[in-house]
Amino acid sequence: MKQMSAIGDVIKRAHGLWEVIDTGGEAAKRLSDLQRALVEAQIRETALIEENAALKQTVAGYEQFEIEKQHYEPEQLPSSAWVMRLRVGVHVDTHLAQQGMQFCTQCFFKRQLSILQPLDKRSASSRFLQCHVCRSEVMIDPPPRGCVDVC
Ligand SMILES: [Zn+2]
Repeated sequence: MKQMSAIGDVIKRAHGLWEVIDTGGEAAKRLSDLQRALVEAQIRETALIEENAALKQTVAGYEQFEIEKQHYEPEQLPSSAWVMRLRVGVHVDTHLAQQGMQFCTQCFFKRQLSILQPLDKRSASSRFLQCHVCRSEVMIDPPPRGCVDVC
């Protein structure tokens, strides 16, 4: 059962004053104003409690990722592009990561694991991977040597 907040307790006590107050007098008007202010304060309190819970959840996610990220290391592809990969020999039961999977570096540094998937670029002479979260593309093979290198 949810415990009544301090403001909720004051609202209840203020409501009890109606039993001993002249309903047509100045005190009644002030009590009404006070009750309105208390209700507004309770609404703000509820919003802050919800915001606090959301922030706690975000922090917990960050802390969990700080632990998990130690299991990953950067890997440079033949094209010189970087991806993240699960460290060799690491088995993370709590996550779907498996050996050989490559992850987006941009998303990794935003505390998110996103598996890179093959990208079909028919016109390209190199193979590419794509992150389906941030849409970044990663070239796998080195770019073909151009005329400048050959000539
Ligand atoms: Zn990404």
